[in-house]
Amino acid sequence: MGVDAERARTLALAAFFGLAAASCARAPSPLAPNLHGPIGMPHRGVLTDADALPRTGPGFTWLRDDERHYAAPRFVRAIARAAESVAAARPGAVLAVGDLSVKSGGRLMPHLSHRTGRDADLLLYMTTLDGAPVPSPGFIHVQEDGLAWDEAHHRFLRFDVEREWLLVKALLTDDDARIQWVFASRTVEAIVLEWAQARGESGDVMLRAQEAMLQPVPGGVHDDHVHIRTQCSPEEVAAGCEPTGPARSWIAASAPALDHAATPSDEELALELSRPLEPEATAARAAPAAPAAAQAGGTQ
Ligand SMILES: [Zn+2]
Repeated sequence: MGVDAERARTLALAAFFGLAAASCARAPSPLAPNLHGPIGMPHRGVLTDADALPRTGPGFTWLRDDERHYAAPRFVRAIARAAESVAAARPGAVLAVGDLSVKSGGRLMPHLSHRTGRDADLLLYMTTLDGAPVPSPGFIHVQEDGLAWDEAHHRFLRFDVEREWLLVKALLTDDDARIQWVFASRTVEAIVLEWAQARGESGDVMLRAQEAMLQPVPGGVHDDHVHIRTQCSPEEVAAGCEPTGPARSWIAASAPALDHAATPSDEELALELSRPLEPEATAARAAPAAPAAAQAGGTQ
């Protein structure tokens, strides 16, 4: 992998955490009444004017019954639309939706991000070995052969790559979704992309998927769900959303100037990646950067 690709991947890792050389996230206050929506960065920010994904809808359901399904309204609608399109094309399966954000955003353990209504965890579509869709068994780990052990039911399940690709494609071709990242394990990524290529998908869609899909390390392998992130819209930027990571050719008007201004230097990246899970926990900040950099290099 060349230097540029290496750097791009390292930047991508930082993007997973929303790390950037930007100032502290803003927050709504009487002094800043113009801030609303997703405010700040994925790992450091808050959320106002959120909508909740309904508990169930056409082709989707909450994984757990809790208060963690809030996000920017357009992002919520995009997730529902994508799930519905999969259900329409290949009926019989239901997308299980894990954590988005809490209503006011902010910290959501155990996640590093999910703080500004721009992140969502989507469980993987799974079938029986015979190809019959099953309700999500939760977070089970897809191996290189496309199988995953469902401990609760003592059985192997098969990764439903056909529906997963339909979902990824629906998200990446939805203008309002503004999908910047589809974090997934290298295994899941490879299975999905090979499937798409074999199906003769267009170069444009393939390119989007290749750029967006990434296994973040550190940050979890993501062989049991995909984590999608939406980029701020220009209106959201004006209201306090801080773009992170690379601009995407398929995201219209993604405020590239701001994106590039937020791109940290290699040195800053190394420092950011070496920080503990909770950036507020300053005590451990003096940790050397080398291990994190080595870890980042280990993701090729
Ligand atoms: Zn996540």
